[in-house]
Amino acid sequence: MSEPVVGRFAPTPSGRLHLGNVLCAMLACLSARQQGGRFLLRIEDVDVPRCPRALAQQAMEDLRWLGFTWDEPPLFQSERTEVYEHHLALLTQQGLTYPCFCTRARLQSLLAPNLGDTQVVYPGTCRDLSPQETARLLTQRSPSIRLRVPDEELVFTDGLQGVIRENLARDCGDFVLRRSDGLFGYQLAVVVDDGLSGVSEVVRGRDILSATPRQIYLQRLLGFPTPHYVHIPLLTDAHGRRLAKRDRDLDLSALRMRYSPEEILGILASAAGLLRSYHPVSWDELTNDFSWNRVCREDMRLRFPD
Ligand code: GLU
Repeated sequence: MSEPVVGRFAPTPSGRLHLGNVLCAMLACLSARQQGGRFLLRIEDVDVPRCPRALAQQAMEDLRWLGFTWDEPPLFQSERTEVYEHHLALLTQQGLTYPCFCTRARLQSLLAPNLGDTQVVYPGTCRDLSPQETARLLTQRSPSIRLRVPDEELVFTDGLQGVIRENLARDCGDFVLRRSDGLFGYQLAVVVDDGLSGVSEVVRGRDILSATPRQIYLQRLLGFPTPHYVHIPLLTDAHGRRLAKRDRDLDLSALRMRYSPEEILGILASAAGLLRSYHPVSWDELTNDFSWNRVCREDMRLRFPD
């Protein structure tokens, strides 16, 4: 018999939870529960200055109010520095990392805004510094730590987005595992935490799809199995326009004043295609009827009941 599914929701509590976050959490939880699996919560507060503990507590309180339950005490990334240090050391021992002294300004200057670039492909400036040069630069500034990536195609199949191919060297370049301020980067923390928690299914927003090949590469290097990925479409307004991330009307503080938990679940379930038409809905009803076949593959349009 195969192992039970382990799903998770991993919010970054740099603000109040937003409807888009709740949609990811809901689909992740429904999928795990419907398969008889477990569901975990992880607080991605690795960037401690941006994620005060009070916001994490608030996110957990909002999730409980919505009726979420999780099967283990939540992990807080801010408490796991030693675990990330250990895994970074494993990569360093294999000669896969190097210190990078490039400043943010220098990397920004490599962007070609007229080509619509938003992400720099790191050109490998510090990849082959001599030991002498490294020692000299270390007296001037603290480096970030990058991972060397191979010039080969990485392929995986996403549950909603289909087959995804990426060549890490061409599309992203050597990427940061630890920032120059000492904080661990998102890619390493996510991979280590999903791996050690036995997460086998990752449901999250399509905005993170482009990070997935880097995470799969790290899993392979660290010996973790690759989970099944499902990247869900973005929530839009009723006209198909992308929601502004900072739209306060759609965060839980505003929504809790207007709607009950069953109404919010109903709004999200109908946007996702799980209900033919809007009605307030319970977790039991959603779990019994859940199937990925019914979830929209296009943008999910929000409509609020009058
Ligand atoms: N912490 C990320 C976010 O809130 C999600 C990471 C993930 O699900 O892998 O956007």
